[in-house]
Amino acid sequence: MPLFPPDSFLVSDVVPSPNIDERKDGRPPDMILLHYTGMQTGQAALERLTMAASKVSAHYVVFENGRIVQCVPEALRAWHAGVSSWAGETDINSRSIGIEIVNPGHEFGYCNFPLRQTAAVISLCKTILTRRGPIGAERILAHSDVAPARKQDPGEKFPWELLSESGIGHWVRAAPLDLDGVTLKPGDHGEQVSRLQRTLASYGYGIAETGSYDDATRDVVTAFQRHFRPARVDGIADPSTLLTLRALIETRPTPLS
Ligand SMILES: [Zn+2]
Repeated sequence: MPLFPPDSFLVSDVVPSPNIDERKDGRPPDMILLHYTGMQTGQAALERLTMAASKVSAHYVVFENGRIVQCVPEALRAWHAGVSSWAGETDINSRSIGIEIVNPGHEFGYCNFPLRQTAAVISLCKTILTRRGPIGAERILAHSDVAPARKQDPGEKFPWELLSESGIGHWVRAAPLDLDGVTLKPGDHGEQVSRLQRTLASYGYGIAETGSYDDATRDVVTAFQRHFRPARVDGIADPSTLLTLRALIETRPTPLS
């Protein structure tokens, strides 16, 4: 893959990845997917994202100091989402722009995201939205949102609130922990579980309505908490989680169809 002109003036370097193909449906991307690199260093992650044998790539890599490297032109399909689903679509790589944020992740010493790095992510997202026109705020998502059973990134330390304050992404202030009310948990069955599953699916999560609080439900609730109620990530739909979910649905920028 030869060098290509960067899509954004914020890009310091272009390091092309061979792990690309065409977007399958010919439509422009309408989703931004945020990841952490989950490796010991950003340089190691960049090498992996640009070596053919790894079969993975992303459009952008954002380092701790805010440096932005582009590996794939936005017009092409990068390979970052893997098996995933959102709002009924499963080829998330064709639909999205992938941003890898350098952080060791849960495996190698998960740490807070430096402010300079977060600011760079925000600026990058802003330039994407400005250039491409409206992308629904609720379609700026975590990898864990679209692959809840497999992925944890960018994780509960990612400052979604700061992004939201800058107009990036859909987010509501989480309801306080330890409220009184109904708690749904693994092993539960019945209409309330069905309703929870329908509500999560209506927001976009890939979850079937089974009426039983199965492993898939626990995984989706966990992903929801990492993004929207990070103070406690345990896969249990406590009153705080349920209230936060309801507030999110009620404030969804693009109404549910
Ligand atoms: Zn990821």
